[in-house]
Amino acid sequence: MRRQLFLFMKTVETEGIVYTVQKAARKSVSITVKRNGDVCVRAPYWITYGQIACFVKQKASWIKKRQEVLTSEPSLPQEGPEREQVKKQAAALFHELAFPWERKFESQYGVRPKGWRVREMNTRWGSCSLKTGYITLNLRLFYKPLSCIEYVIVHELCHLLEPGHDKNFYKILEQELPDWKALRKKLNH
Ligand SMILES: [Zn+2]
Repeated sequence: MRRQLFLFMKTVETEGIVYTVQKAARKSVSITVKRNGDVCVRAPYWITYGQIACFVKQKASWIKKRQEVLTSEPSLPQEGPEREQVKKQAAALFHELAFPWERKFESQYGVRPKGWRVREMNTRWGSCSLKTGYITLNLRLFYKPLSCIEYVIVHELCHLLEPGHDKNFYKILEQELPDWKALRKKLNH
């Protein structure tokens, strides 16, 4: 049997944050707050638990804020009729919000997505595939403020003109949505 390479340990920090430490072959410390509020710290083998505690302490206010945001957000229902209902409502809402922007982009730039898709994604709010022409929006946006959903919609529409996040991309985004920075911040806290 191979020896397990990860060491798990649960500990309590003075700032009142409970977290799991996972030591691994890596170069830096990272803190992740999961959707249920659990805190996971990944650290290189050469770091002491005291140093990790210091790191967590430094990040305490950020961790608490993340926990607050994530746990106050309703979680999506499991697969089933209830989830299908949310999907339907989300698709209707997203389409309503996207419609005027879609028209604007079409008349102004001559581009238009082939269609919109909605599904749950873990790391992105939206994506735009130039190959298929479809824009995908994260189902979890449903629980976000309308202005933030709109920001993601405009962001993805801009990708129809500019696939990457280069200067030109932000120029178009800025032109269409001058307060995009504040909206992005609001979306990601
Ligand atoms: Zn993008």
